[in-house]
Amino acid sequence: MNTPPLGRVGLIGLGMVGLHFARHLSRKNGQLTVFDLNKARVKSAARFGATAARSARDLAARSRFVVLSLPSPDAVRAAMLGPNGVLAGVRRGTVIIDASTIDPESCRAMHKAAAARGADYLDTPISGGEPGGGGTDGAKAGNISFMVGGGRGAYARARPVLHAIGKRSFYLGASGAGSTVKLISNHIAGLNNLVMMEGFVLGAAAGFSPETLMAVFDGTDARSFMMTDYFAPRYRRGDFDPGFSVDLMHKDHKLAADLGQKHGVPLFFNQLALEVYQAMRARKRGRKDIIEALHFLADDAGVDIRRMHPQRTRKGGRR
Ligand code: NAD
Repeated sequence: MNTPPLGRVGLIGLGMVGLHFARHLSRKNGQLTVFDLNKARVKSAARFGATAARSARDLAARSRFVVLSLPSPDAVRAAMLGPNGVLAGVRRGTVIIDASTIDPESCRAMHKAAAARGADYLDTPISGGEPGGGGTDGAKAGNISFMVGGGRGAYARARPVLHAIGKRSFYLGASGAGSTVKLISNHIAGLNNLVMMEGFVLGAAAGFSPETLMAVFDGTDARSFMMTDYFAPRYRRGDFDPGFSVDLMHKDHKLAADLGQKHGVPLFFNQLALEVYQAMRARKRGRKDIIEALHFLADDAGVDIRRMHPQRTRKGGRR
C-alpha cells in the first residue's frame, strides 16, 4: 500500500486474468474503472471497489492508462475501434497497455491508430513463470511477467502500472516485439504440455501413475515448469477448469503458425499441437484447461488414467 497512486486507470476485459488485475489495481491504486461485455464479470470487479464504465469509449475518456486483457485480435479490434471504442474517447498522452495475446501485425495497427489520436499503445502480453505461479495462478499472486513492445517512453510511463499487477517486465523493442516473444513462449509451453501428457498416458498404460512419474522426473531431464508448477498443483486438486483454456492455447498456436509463415520458418511441432488442440475443441473440450489434454489423449489411447488420480487413490483406488 506504500505504492504512490498511479493516476486514473481503466481496465477492459475481466476474465480469468483480468479479474485478478482488477483486484491488484483496485487495492494498490485505490481507483479503477472497468468495462466488460459480460455484466457478471463487471459485478465481480465492483466487489473490489472498481467503478463500471458505460463503454470502452467512456472508460478511455476517464483514464490516463487503459489496460486491455481480451481473448483475441478480433476482441481487441472491437474494443479499440468504432464509435464506442477506446480510440473514440482516448485523451492525448494516454498509454494503452494491451496484455492480450494477439498477433504482432494487429499490435502495429493498434499502435498506429493510437498514435493518430495522440495516445501510445504498448503490446504487453503476460506469462506466469514464478514457482507456483503459472498462468492465472501467477496473475492471482501478482507474479506474472510482461513482454513489452512499443515506444520506450511509453514503457517508462507504464512501468508502475505493470508492476502494480505483475513482477517482471521485459522491454523487447518496437511495437509487436512483445507479442512476437509471447507467441514463441506459448509455442513452447503448449507443446510442452502435450508431450508431457503423452508421456503420462504411456506411463499409465505401463502401470505408472503421473504422481510416480513426477516424483522420479523431478530428478531427471523430463522435469519442466509446465510439469512442476502448472500441471502438478491443478492435477492434485482435481481442477481441470481454466486457468488457461484450450480455446486460448489453440488461438496462440494459430498465431504462431502465422508468425512462422511470415518469417519463412517451418514449425513442424506447432502444427501438431494446433491439430491436437483443435481436436479437443471439436470434442467440446475448448473451455477446459489445457491439462485436459491428459484425459483427451488417454481416452484416445483407451487408457483409464482417471483411476490413478490423487482424489481416487486417496479413497483407496489402485495406483
Ligand atoms: P477470458 O476469456 O477468461 O476473458 C476475456 C474477457 O474479455 C471476458 O470476460 C469477455 O467477456 C471479455 N471481452 C471479450 N470481448 C470484449 C470486448 N470487445 N469488450 C469488453 N470485454 C470483452 O480470457 P483470459 O483467460 O482472461 O485471457 C485474456 C488474455 O490473456 C488472452 O489473450 C489470453 O491468451 C491471455 N493469457 C491468458 C492466460 C491464462 O492463464 N488465462 C495466461 C497468459 C495469457
